[in-house]
Amino acid sequence: PQGTHGAPVCVAIEPAGGPALPQASGLPDDTFETDGTMTKRPVRALTLSALAPRPGEHLWDVGGGSGSVAVEWLLSHPTTQATTVEPREDRRALIARNAASLGQDRLRIVEGSAPGALEGLAPPDAVFVGGGLSQALLDRLTALPKGTRLVANAVTLDSEALLVAAQARLGGTLLRLDLSEAAPLGPRKAWKAAYPVVQWSVTL
Ligand code: SAH
Repeated sequence: PQGTHGAPVCVAIEPAGGPALPQASGLPDDTFETDGTMTKRPVRALTLSALAPRPGEHLWDVGGGSGSVAVEWLLSHPTTQATTVEPREDRRALIARNAASLGQDRLRIVEGSAPGALEGLAPPDAVFVGGGLSQALLDRLTALPKGTRLVANAVTLDSEALLVAAQARLGGTLLRLDLSEAAPLGPRKAWKAAYPVVQWSVTL
C-alpha cells in the first residue's frame, strides 16, 4: 500500500487468528488454556533451555498437565516430535486443545501413568518429567540409551530427595529455581515466593 504522498507504508503482518507468537521459549502463561496445573513461564523457559530441542528430535513429556512444555518443544522447530503421557482424561483433552489452537499436530497424547505407559513408545531424544516422579520412573529413564537428555522438576521434598540421589549417582546439574514476583501487600508491594523447584538435568 502507498501513503498519501506515494511513499510505501509499512503494514504489520499477522497470521490469521492473531498476532505472531514470540520466538523464544517461555511463552506468556495466557497462551495456554489451563486448569491451574501448568509449568509457569519462567520455569518453563528454563526447562525448555535445559531440554535443548534440536530439529527432528522427539520428546517424552511425562505428566503432560496442560501440555505447555510439549507444545513449546513442538514450536521450537517444525520437524520436532513429542509424546506426552497423562493419566487424567480432562487434562488429555486440555493438552489436545492447546496443541490444536497453537497449530501443532505432531503431538501424541498417551493415556496412562509412567513408567508403565512408556512401554512401546518411539524412543526419545529428550525426556521431561513434570509429574509422576518415582524411583521406578527414574530407573526406567536412566536405562535409556547413552546420549538421551533427561530433565526432571521436583517441588515436594520426596521428589527432590529422589533427584538429589540420582544426581549423586549419575552426575548432571541440580538447579534450584527460587522465584518471587512482586505482588500487592495491602497498599504496598512485596515479594511473593513461588514454591522452589529443583531441576535435575543430565545427558546419559
Ligand atoms: N508440565 C505440565 C504440568 C505438569 S503437572 C504443564 O506445563 O502443563 C503434573 C502432571 O503429572 C499432572 O497433570 C498429573 O496428572 C500428571 N501425573 C501424575 N502422576 C503421573 C504419572 N505417574 N505418569 C504420568 N503423569 C502423571
